[in-house]
Amino acid sequence: MSISLQSLKRKELVEKLIRSGIKDKKVLEAIGTVKREFFVNDEFKRYAYDNNALPINCSQTISQPYTVAFMTELLEIKEGNKILEIGTGSGYQAAVLKELGADVYSIEKYEELYLKAKSTLENQNYKVTLKCGDGSKGWAEFAPYDGIIVTAGSPKIPDVYLDQLLPLGRLVIPVGDSAVQKIWQVKKGSREGDKPEIKKFSDFKFVPLQWEEGWK
Ligand code: SAH
Repeated sequence: MSISLQSLKRKELVEKLIRSGIKDKKVLEAIGTVKREFFVNDEFKRYAYDNNALPINCSQTISQPYTVAFMTELLEIKEGNKILEIGTGSGYQAAVLKELGADVYSIEKYEELYLKAKSTLENQNYKVTLKCGDGSKGWAEFAPYDGIIVTAGSPKIPDVYLDQLLPLGRLVIPVGDSAVQKIWQVKKGSREGDKPEIKKFSDFKFVPLQWEEGWK
């Protein structure tokens, strides 16, 4: 498939996202720039610009472009923001965050996915700080963050994520049971002890976040 056909398909995907209610111009621009065909497995390349989740290795998925755009909007990223992603998967979401000018840290549980995402991101010239390990406790070493995005569904919000956010930082996380989740935007208060502001959006379906207190 020629490169120009891929860029045409990328444009069509952006049009589809606009019709689905994605408004943030910078987010749309980022989706219109990242070459999703390099983040999916070879056998799915021809579906790379369908607005669908696709299987990746280790029984995981690259999220649907609409979901990536929706969650990215909720992060309210400004140039230079430090963002932590839990669940690198294919590396696609991390690339979108980089296109928005964020300084990106991302953790993946499976070594196979971590290694593949590392080489994809390097080949596409995205400088992301990656780690293979359990992200259910965040990544204290580089905290605090302006935003944390969790790309796997969780039964609740681990307190540690809020602890690792700056005042007014945003946590975007799918919360629910294993069948269906709502995406929560949790905005940390400006002062210590302030209650976070929570907005919930329905309904989404994610692979589960795997962690000690989580899905057993
Ligand atoms: N953001 C990814 C979507 C990946 S799906 C993308 O753009 O492709 C969610 C990912 O979360 C999976 O790869 C899964 O292995 C990972 N994951 C689940 N539990 C995790 C945990 N506790 N720590 C780190 N990664 C986890």
